[in-house]
Amino acid sequence: MSGTRNVAILGATGSIGRSTLDVIARHPDRFRAFALTAHTQAEELFALCAAHRPTLAVLADESQARALRGSIRAAGLPTTVLAGADGLIETATHPEIDAVMAAIVGAAGLAPTLAAARAGKKILLANKEALVVAGPIFMAAIRAADAALLPIDSEHNAVFQCLPHRAGGRLDACGVRRIVLTGSGGPFRTRPLADLECVTPDEACAHPTWRMGRKISVDSATMMNKALEIIEAHWLFGAPASRIEVLVHPQSVVHSMVEYADGSVIAQLGNPDMRTPIAQALAYPDRIDAGVASLDLAQLGALTFEAPDFGRFRALALAYETLAAGGTAPAVFNAANEVAVAAFLAGTLSFPRITDVIESTLARVPATPVDALADVLEADLRARATASAALGVEATITV
Ligand code: NAD
Ligand code: MG
Repeated sequence: MSGTRNVAILGATGSIGRSTLDVIARHPDRFRAFALTAHTQAEELFALCAAHRPTLAVLADESQARALRGSIRAAGLPTTVLAGADGLIETATHPEIDAVMAAIVGAAGLAPTLAAARAGKKILLANKEALVVAGPIFMAAIRAADAALLPIDSEHNAVFQCLPHRAGGRLDACGVRRIVLTGSGGPFRTRPLADLECVTPDEACAHPTWRMGRKISVDSATMMNKALEIIEAHWLFGAPASRIEVLVHPQSVVHSMVEYADGSVIAQLGNPDMRTPIAQALAYPDRIDAGVASLDLAQLGALTFEAPDFGRFRALALAYETLAAGGTAPAVFNAANEVAVAAFLAGTLSFPRITDVIESTLARVPATPVDALADVLEADLRARATASAALGVEATITV
């Protein structure tokens, strides 16, 4: 370990952002929260600045940034406040920053995360959507800059821990037969299908085992989260879709597994607490205290597993179709989901229609090859427009 490492937390006010700050605060000798960013939550970001005294703070919204500057000055804090997309990029590439926690939700996190990768920063990747949208571009940037990429998503962090060092892209050489991603099945795993028409955003966000932001909570309820994670695993580990399987495990204790050619299956277990993967990635290859309680298997008694129901969770089948289509298809898949989830959370789309909107958008926006970032950004915009147009139709059906 070489001195204190400066960390930028993109999305500091979110669920992952706060868990990251919790781990960092336990290890002031190792880590410093050098920069904190948020979307519009000026008051929340101010409170985090008062507690962690970062050098930089960024708000996406310019007028909110002015308000934050006033509070920072009045409190005598040592923090410079930047604003907007440029402020995010400046922060993610700042020469004094060693590691970037990419914890903005959605494709909005792509630009700063990609900039950090191009600048050769150590990337701690929670923002799976960035990788789903721009997989080939992102991975090429990581390779070109020889940047370290550590998965924060609990499943991918588990797989990373179960693979030999630097196995990415060489699964055959490492004797890997398959990667098994576990998923809890969310709050509606056993709910009668007919009841799903009427479920509310709060019910969808009441995840049985994890406390997370609202968008990823809805994704867990549709299993779109696992669908995005199949694509994420494809890019992170260089794994073909045929080697990535999903297993439903309601207790969320086995975070994922890797099966080897000799029949060995190596799993990573732990309490469902994101501070474990965050601490693993921050300190890698060291191990540090994350504030997470010991796993008490005797108290748990039993861990259960079942095959995913592809009829109930159509997003899973769509993920494999999306990978097979390739090119811009994952960007379309993700964008349609973002539009549909926002409509569901706003109360204008019923829960079952989320997957309908994704499916119809995939059918209407055909995949094209990806040669440059512009290709995926264009597909993202087209998919958002197409999904938004579909919402009008869907909304009249469902109200
Ligand atoms: P969240 O909603 O709690 O927080 C999101 C953060 O991003 C906030 O700080 C918000 O201010 C910021 N943000 C939102 N929109 C923005 C925009 N347009 N521009 C700039 N900043 C913006 O979300 P979360 O649950 O912490 O999830 C963050 C990411 O981590 C997601 O990609 C999610 O899929 C992934 N992830 C989360 C968990 C979890 O346990 N929460 C687990 C695995 C992966
Ligand atoms: Mg996950």
